[in-house]
Amino acid sequence: MSTTPRIQINTSRLHQHIHDLSQIGKIGETGVCRLALSKEDREGVELVKQWMEEAGMEAHIDPFANLVGMLKGRNPDAPVLMLGSHIDSQPYGGRFDGAIGVLGAIEVVQTLVDSGQTPECDIEVVAFCDEEGCRFNKGLFGVRGMTGKLEDNELERMDKSGITRREALIAFGCDPADFEGYVFQQGRIGTFLELHIEQGPVLEALDAPIGIVTGISGPLWLTVEMTGFAGHAGSVPMSMRHDALLGCAKIIVALNELVQQVPDAPTVGTVGSLTVFPDSRNIIPEKVSFTIDLRDIDLARRNALETELLSVIENVSREHGLTYTIREDTNSEPRYCAGWIMQFLREEAGEMGFSPPELMSGPFHDSLAMSHVCDYGMIFVRCLEGISHNPKEFASPDDITLGTELLYRTARRIALEIPGSQAR
Ligand SMILES: [Zn+2]
Repeated sequence: MSTTPRIQINTSRLHQHIHDLSQIGKIGETGVCRLALSKEDREGVELVKQWMEEAGMEAHIDPFANLVGMLKGRNPDAPVLMLGSHIDSQPYGGRFDGAIGVLGAIEVVQTLVDSGQTPECDIEVVAFCDEEGCRFNKGLFGVRGMTGKLEDNELERMDKSGITRREALIAFGCDPADFEGYVFQQGRIGTFLELHIEQGPVLEALDAPIGIVTGISGPLWLTVEMTGFAGHAGSVPMSMRHDALLGCAKIIVALNELVQQVPDAPTVGTVGSLTVFPDSRNIIPEKVSFTIDLRDIDLARRNALETELLSVIENVSREHGLTYTIREDTNSEPRYCAGWIMQFLREEAGEMGFSPPELMSGPFHDSLAMSHVCDYGMIFVRCLEGISHNPKEFASPDDITLGTELLYRTARRIALEIPGSQAR
């Protein structure tokens, strides 16, 4: 860093907002629990709504329970610039996940308004409902609702205490009967920008306060079941065994090696869940079921790895006399950030005296759903040791300030200089 950038946003207001929101649903010293559509979530939404109004926006809660603030621009026909993230949290969550994206976006609008600048297009700031998905076991609810991507029976999904999403929405004051009128029309949103903590250790390792996201890598999720033959661990000679766990172990090792074939590629592969039958110390394992999570920003490379992995599974099974089945649970494609937005981010960061590293996002965000309806860009803020979904989650005020300042400068440029969406 050569120079200290001149910060135009109001940092004390931003950090006060982050602090005040973290007091709602507070657990321990630094954690939060604001489950989607809970009483705490509602309290958070009301407080954030008030800040939207103080920033000069008209705010409302839509039937999907998204909180939407609007600032009118000069040209009502210009595609909207949308900014936002989420304020719901995991049950044992941190103060920054999602929150900085919403509060940073409000700060962007308030800075524009305070400095007497009127955007060309409308700006909307959204706190999307239920990004986390932990309560009803399916995330990105609000953003998928708004973009017309809800699936059948989603309203009947139940939480642990038997409350359906429909009931929770109604208790929150939202009427699912009104959904249709609030799905936004194709082309209405021109650009979406999201500021988020990285939730990983890459920026910290690079000693960089902020980063420009290149895209969100969609995961391939498989469940593999391998079947051999049980036998006495003391009597069956090694050459005569059909040990399903041994086969699985070879596949775990092979996956780990496969994803590291290309040095410096962001490819990751994980076996995170494993069940063994009959799970006894003196029986040769007969059946093993395990999950595979494979991610890459390059879909062609991910597909090639999948093919290699399938042939490893085939070969290992043949070698050990096992049969197997593979179930595909999820197969989402990577979604790339718009090149022109990344260029704006680079240039604006350059003005601030930075050249942030560019990295992909392994986790998904509200941006993933927005990527299907408009161009999007993301800014990551470094977080301590990559810890997230944990009360220990921490991002420094200075880093959040820089991320928000970059969000402000980029949003201002889009909102002031680009009537329509010629930038595409
Ligand atoms: Zn988040």
